[in-house]
Amino acid sequence: MIFTRKPEKQREESDKSNQELSDLRASVEKAGLSASLNAAAIKELERMENMDTSAPEYSIGINYIEYLLSLPWHDFTNDNLDLVRAEKIMDSRHYGLNKIKERMLEYLSVRTLFSLQAFHVLVVDDEEIARDNLEYILKKEGYQVSTAANGLEAVNILKTRNIDLILTDLKMEKMDGMQLLESAKKVSPNAELVMITGFATVTSAVDALKKGAFHYLPKPINLDELRATVRQLIERKKHLQMTRSPILCFAGPPGTGKTSVGKAIAEALERKFVRISLAGLRDEADLRGHRRTYVGAMPGRIINEIKRAGSRNPVFMLDEIDKIGQDFRGDPASVLLEILDPEQNSHFTDHYLDAPFDLSGVMFISTANVVERLPAPLLDRLEVIRFTGYTEKEKEHIAKIHLIPRQLREHGLMDMKADFTNDAISGIIRNYTMEAGLRNLEREIATIFRKIARLSVQKNGRSDEIRIDEALVEKLLGPGKFSHETAERGSRPGVATGLVWTEFGGEIIFIEASVMKGNRQLILTGSMGNVLQESAQTALSFVRSNAEQFGIEPDFFEGRDIHIHIPSGAVPKDGPSAGVTIAVALISLLTGKPARNDIALTGELTLSGRILGVSGIREKILAARRGGIKVTVFPERNKPDIAVLEPEVTESVEVVLAEDVPGIVKLVLQGTL
Ligand code: ADP
Repeated sequence: MIFTRKPEKQREESDKSNQELSDLRASVEKAGLSASLNAAAIKELERMENMDTSAPEYSIGINYIEYLLSLPWHDFTNDNLDLVRAEKIMDSRHYGLNKIKERMLEYLSVRTLFSLQAFHVLVVDDEEIARDNLEYILKKEGYQVSTAANGLEAVNILKTRNIDLILTDLKMEKMDGMQLLESAKKVSPNAELVMITGFATVTSAVDALKKGAFHYLPKPINLDELRATVRQLIERKKHLQMTRSPILCFAGPPGTGKTSVGKAIAEALERKFVRISLAGLRDEADLRGHRRTYVGAMPGRIINEIKRAGSRNPVFMLDEIDKIGQDFRGDPASVLLEILDPEQNSHFTDHYLDAPFDLSGVMFISTANVVERLPAPLLDRLEVIRFTGYTEKEKEHIAKIHLIPRQLREHGLMDMKADFTNDAISGIIRNYTMEAGLRNLEREIATIFRKIARLSVQKNGRSDEIRIDEALVEKLLGPGKFSHETAERGSRPGVATGLVWTEFGGEIIFIEASVMKGNRQLILTGSMGNVLQESAQTALSFVRSNAEQFGIEPDFFEGRDIHIHIPSGAVPKDGPSAGVTIAVALISLLTGKPARNDIALTGELTLSGRILGVSGIREKILAARRGGIKVTVFPERNKPDIAVLEPEVTESVEVVLAEDVPGIVKLVLQGTL
């Protein structure tokens, strides 16, 4: 369809667009973009000048330029590196987590040292006045300065001092700038060199650059250019130092404080905080944006969050890096490394922006529930900091000191004195939550306050004080959701209780085995992964080859099928540590002796009956306690891991170390001597 417009309307439109474009051009010029970006933006604006304002490309162009201008190319916050203050902030937000707090403070200390390190410049010139001038100017800028009258003197200084930058004249007696450049490369390879040359010797300047000088400055020296060059070098040096700093990964079950520690670090450093979750991420374009040639192209989430932070050095949390979608197109490890690794992320290119954005100032913290799932090249570069589940006592304490006061505030009940009895708090933990962390506990407390808020508004008056006991908790939250007495599940032959370690922390599982007529098939159900299936096969072979020892008929498999099932069928399960439990379930089934249901087992079983060590010890013991288990059985090989646990962890549960299956059978199967 062709529109015919009134000429004056057209003129109005085109005036408006001209104005719009010239405003944008002025903003681009003021924005101080890098030369290449500036050129790209101007080119885009010029293209738009010849465009009809109603063309889609016109508005795409406007959006692009406006987006470019809205990014914090030069805005950053200054780090507050006051360690005492940082420690106070970490302590006031979190109970416990001592090792993590210490690690964070070390991390901040290293950054402080880097930032305090004086930058050392060596000025080399045979003219005393020139030397003195440069020394004066550079000292005023806050640098440490040494001077030398020629190349030879300079080399001697390089041998004894740690010099960051050599600022040298080209023409000197004894050893000139070029010779110095060559010697400096050998004596002090980390020092950068800036050559100062007269106009007449531009060719030698180019030569110097070719041979590895960082920059050259023509004579007479423009002081602004000198200052800018030195500053640029410092930025680069600092950046290189940072590249050696590790990429942090907070790993642990949900609700154990990973996000809130990240926020506290941002607060301590006085940086902005942003986060995105990578769970289920399928397409690299989500992170890096779409090229503008696509209709509806948008920047990726990384750049979008940077824009939202309004600062180029926020604390940026990349949550759940272990949950990137299975069907991710491309290699997630290399994409993540490109974003996280300071060596690569200084020129991170978003497809929409189509220009590099320097992410090296960003403090990335990744989080994961299970790092073991991460690709090896990525895991290699991460410094994993483990967050573990909390004991019931710790949870009670955190609820009292942190969660309850915070939820009171968040529900507009600041003036109310909410007095939770100890029984009420432990009742919520035991009967309404079953978790390693604190998420549901916080949610249940929030529900209580929401209901109290409503009641107090309905009553048309607010009470100042409320006592919350077990009865009130039940009234507000309804009957408890969890029964923790596994012992209540009657015991019958063929069922064994196990401990596993999942992304949610430790968990109790029940392994069921049954036998039926058939033709020697092993049926496995309950979303078992490959490793778990192999454990089941190994356990069955072990029992078959040692049947007599356990009082089982050797040919029990003849004319029969065996079915092993792990309830919660929809939840995928994997890992080798259920081997022992499966073997015990089978022995229980085939001997007709029920297994004690207050004992939970974990251990990898080999075909020859050896029991190998397992991981997630602390989480497993905590899960056993949550489930009301009295005795836990761990492989003997885990003795050292158990020895280092804090006494509170093993407080109300007995830990037995097992060396072989017969020993476990004796302990677990009722009626076995
Ligand atoms: P994650 O990121 O590990 O899933 P969060 O940081 O979201 O966990 O923590 C869940 C809740 O528990 C938050 O409200 C957090 O402040 C609180 N929390 C976690 N650990 C502690 C702790 N050690 N002390 C006080 N509060 C904590």
